[in-house]
Amino acid sequence: MREGVANYVAKAEEELRQRRLAWQEAKQWKFDTVAVHGLYTVAEAIERNQGAIIEPVYLATSQAYRDSDELEAALAYLIPTWCYARIANPSVYYLEWTLALLEGYGCDFETACCATSSGMAAIVSAIEPFLVRLPGRELEPVNFVASAHVYGGTFQQFAVRQREKGVEVRWVQHPERLEEWAAQIDQHTRFLYGELPSNPTLAFFDIAAVAELAHSHGIPLIVDSTVATPALLRPLQHGADIVVHSATKSLTASGFGIAGAVIARKPIVTNIPNDPMREDFASYIKFLPNRDNGPNLSPLQAILTASDVRTLRVRMDMLSENARLVAEFLQDHPKVERVSYPGLPSYPLHALARRYMWLVDAEYDHRYREKVNRYGHLLSFCVKGGHEAARRVLDGLRRIFRATDLGRIKSVATIPAISTHQQQGEEGRKLASIPDNLIRLSVGAEHPDDLIADLDQALARA
Ligand SMILES: *Cc1c(COP(=O)(O)O)cnc(C)c1O
Repeated sequence: MREGVANYVAKAEEELRQRRLAWQEAKQWKFDTVAVHGLYTVAEAIERNQGAIIEPVYLATSQAYRDSDELEAALAYLIPTWCYARIANPSVYYLEWTLALLEGYGCDFETACCATSSGMAAIVSAIEPFLVRLPGRELEPVNFVASAHVYGGTFQQFAVRQREKGVEVRWVQHPERLEEWAAQIDQHTRFLYGELPSNPTLAFFDIAAVAELAHSHGIPLIVDSTVATPALLRPLQHGADIVVHSATKSLTASGFGIAGAVIARKPIVTNIPNDPMREDFASYIKFLPNRDNGPNLSPLQAILTASDVRTLRVRMDMLSENARLVAEFLQDHPKVERVSYPGLPSYPLHALARRYMWLVDAEYDHRYREKVNRYGHLLSFCVKGGHEAARRVLDGLRRIFRATDLGRIKSVATIPAISTHQQQGEEGRKLASIPDNLIRLSVGAEHPDDLIADLDQALARA
């Protein structure tokens, strides 16, 4: 190594030490403090950002260096730096650390995060490193095992895009049954993938048991935790290796843009012989495959996302309580066939969900002073009378928006069979148990009495 480059590397050690101290301090905080501050410390504000109390948006595409030695050290990733905004960016960095800390909250291992331009980009970034052809084994088949209860875009990605590349997806129709997962795994399986609670059927599975099954085969469990958010469930704590988020959805409330994130524990379990990938998966994809593929998040979107995440815990508490009241109303309504909401005792997977879904830090919350279950804002219900009746109910909504979105501060409803899960066809919807009279409802922060009144008058048209 050139002497000048080595000098920069030595100088960077102090900065790395400072970052490590900030991380250690943040690991001691409660969830809300992490969500509000992340690693944007007082020193970070004063010494680097002119005292700005909110993380600045750095829109510049690239970073300038003092001399060629610093440039070389930076582009070889020998010093902490951001180089070029497709690789990294200071605004994105603050969001990534907040999300890594929140998904790793209460865990004694380390976590890292790679933010992406969308939830789909997060999913593709998380799965593709496992689906590579291995040297000397290029002709071997490649498969992965996934719950069929996934977001429609995920279903398409797996069933169409991955199949185009010769990768086989093996669906698990009842993810709560461990033996269905086990029966699909063979020596060519690269990972297990599940979503919970799933969009739109609210499917659930035993994370710890599925993670243990994966690990017994030397492969990781990847979980889409979009609907739960770390305020209600942290899959890494229960043994999952990687969590993916559509940060477009429940992590944010305002609905100002598309974003995604991959958060991984350090190290992960994998049978892919790639040490940097095993040791720090999120940083690996950030600095190598995603540098080359380009699914990065824009700095402005990163700060908009970080801004909403600050109030995540109280928001998820409020939305969960609103959703529970709405679910209870729907459950008793004569025009409703059935309601899927993990918080309803009548829901078949309620006991399983109750084991996993807790409002983080409720025991330190002066309103509760004890652990409380919370089940999120998403529910679905089937309307008696079939598809046309469901359409009449949807069309009758006056306050609740008809749109394909969820996690918003405003309530939003859709019929998945004709929208989010339309592309996967009738066969695919049967596999995922999505009937055409099912309405998905993402409950917002309006007063629940007004939501119930809107649903009541719409259901009168069924
Ligand atoms: C919307 C969604 C995605 C995809 O996210 P985008 O940000 O729209 O790309 C993935 N998973 C779940 C559960 C979703 O609801």
